[in-house]
Amino acid sequence: MSSPIIAWPARVTLCEVGLRDGLQNEKTIPSVGQKLQLLDAVVASGVKIIEVGAFVHPKAVPQMADTDALCRAMKKVDGVEYRALVPNLKGVQRAFDAGLSKAKLTVSASEAHCLANFNSSPVKMVEGFADCVEFAAKNNVTLSGAISTSFGCPFQGRVPVQQVENVVESFVKLGITELSLSDTTGMANPRQAYELGTYMIQKFPQVRWVMHFHNTRDMALANIVMAIQAGIRMFDGAFAGLGGCPFAPGASGNVASEDVIHMLHEMGIDTGIDLLKAMDTARLAAEFVGHPAGSTVLKAGRCVDLVKEKAQGQNNK
Ligand code: ZN
Repeated sequence: MSSPIIAWPARVTLCEVGLRDGLQNEKTIPSVGQKLQLLDAVVASGVKIIEVGAFVHPKAVPQMADTDALCRAMKKVDGVEYRALVPNLKGVQRAFDAGLSKAKLTVSASEAHCLANFNSSPVKMVEGFADCVEFAAKNNVTLSGAISTSFGCPFQGRVPVQQVENVVESFVKLGITELSLSDTTGMANPRQAYELGTYMIQKFPQVRWVMHFHNTRDMALANIVMAIQAGIRMFDGAFAGLGGCPFAPGASGNVASEDVIHMLHEMGIDTGIDLLKAMDTARLAAEFVGHPAGSTVLKAGRCVDLVKEKAQGQNNK
């Protein structure tokens, strides 16, 4: 007999990464004013964890060049966590200077990817974050880690669990215990999400896990469901499903936040987020980048909308 599904949790946390991962591959870059409008809308919808940008080299990612300006201009709401993605000490320092108290260090799990891009190994790169940890401790900045290509990588295909585990271990040694396993290229499948989630939770119970899926091959929602079954309770999403894939021009981006919220609410799992407001945010984001959103709930409406329309139609007969 197959094992039963574990009880669904009452609540799951969605972190909004649209302002960073969503916009970083867009051709049309919204102004700081437009980004502030999006940020206000995200906060108003009830999201409590927001990735506002990245402190990376402005030539490498021009979409993120105004992250300093955005952080200085935004008004922070109590109870909301504002974080930025950073690649190194300089990034952590810029985040601190811009008034942020949370920074997410990123490294690729794939040895082939790290070797090709940085001539280093993932573990060596994480060990190199020791200076970030020192700076962060002195300045009350909290650090988390993101492990990109945790599920698959264009350089080496499926990334062995052992490679991911080595990177996790290096982060934990540095005292960084909030970690995101990221499917940068949309190669993860539901079974893999379940198995990697189960394995990591059991092996590193002290870690606060996040999973980050791209919907490049339409597997993101299925991955989230199976990761919930594994015990993962935090997921990233991007408004309007923006994001694309740097290795596949024209491909879908991050899983759309509003699709995740809609699915979870339909499953009776609370997110604390107002879905209609999240859908408004997605429409605004699509308007700013100048192309339609990649989310199904914006195209088809909510399940409940269909029921209402049908009921109304019958009444009119
Ligand atoms: Zn991503």
